[in-house]
Amino acid sequence: MNAIDYLRISLVDRCNFRCQYCMPEGADLSYVLQQDLITQDELLVLLQEIFIPIGFTRFRLTGGEPLIRPDVVEIVRAIANLPETQDLSMTTNAFYLEKLAQSLYEAGLRRINISLDSLKPEVFDQIIGNRGRTRWQQVWDGIQAAHQVGFNPLKLNMVVIPGVNDSEILDLAALSIDREWHIRFIEFMPIGNGDLFSDRGWVASEELRRQIRDRWGLTEGQVRGNGPADIFQIPGAKGTLGFISQMSECFCDRCNRMRLSADGWLRPCLLNETGQIDLKGGLRSGVPLADLRRQVRELVFLKPEINYKERDSGTTGRYARTMSQIGG
Ligand code: SAM
Repeated sequence: MNAIDYLRISLVDRCNFRCQYCMPEGADLSYVLQQDLITQDELLVLLQEIFIPIGFTRFRLTGGEPLIRPDVVEIVRAIANLPETQDLSMTTNAFYLEKLAQSLYEAGLRRINISLDSLKPEVFDQIIGNRGRTRWQQVWDGIQAAHQVGFNPLKLNMVVIPGVNDSEILDLAALSIDREWHIRFIEFMPIGNGDLFSDRGWVASEELRRQIRDRWGLTEGQVRGNGPADIFQIPGAKGTLGFISQMSECFCDRCNRMRLSADGWLRPCLLNETGQIDLKGGLRSGVPLADLRRQVRELVFLKPEINYKERDSGTTGRYARTMSQIGG
């Protein structure tokens, strides 16, 4: 079992996109009220008094869409300045990245993952539920801005959905050849849009690798990530290709993370709803920090049990909360 030292922090559960596989338009989502969002001060107390003392040193800011949170740059600066922070990263859809990339970098962010599910503007707009002027170009400009500013590694995430964007695997993979960009292919999970999942299903990473191998060859990369991705490389490419295969493969034994939702619930496992702790509620009702720390320590200890052994308990096979609510 890995050391559990990585916390994914959802800054807000809302998003400016309506990705059909995540939070499709019309889905009945109940958002966290503004006053129930964890504040910057509360987040810092939780990090300094609870998570860091029990060994968490790596943090990722996500959502919803983290860049719609007005204090995102200050939050980055505050976490980057904690002496114990060994790694700080963000997952974003990049729509607001062009204007924020420089400030985020100056505030101390160095690693960024950007969701990019298609290189074709019309397919992209269809996936993100956009009917107006295309949003693809602004996202692409955000990616370029992150590249210019010097984010490294810069990772692009693609959720592969059969019949929607699976014809673009080679085009996405090709982006890793000339630039030090890392492309991550994610198997579609039945979280967020169970109907789309039942209708389309998912493509196994091995099938994607077969297509890439047939075109260019594929070597196992030299860098093994900290996370669940299996890393490969097109021979001679500057970047890498990662495959996150949570449907075709169980990587619970490698899982090193917990998730803090935008309303301050700590969740030990993405696919399991047992064991969650209401840390914000505890803070606001004056539970002593030492008690909260003890509860979190116990949950960290229990996590291996909670992981795949109980993978489906507490759910009906479709998950009650979307990635945007959990903090994907
Ligand atoms: N708004 C940001 C973004 O677009 O990257 C961060 C939040 S988003 C929920 C985080 C990641 O979750 C994205 O890479 C997204 O593609 C992934 N995701 C959401 N729903 C998913 C699903 N049903 N299956 C697989 N990945 C999913």
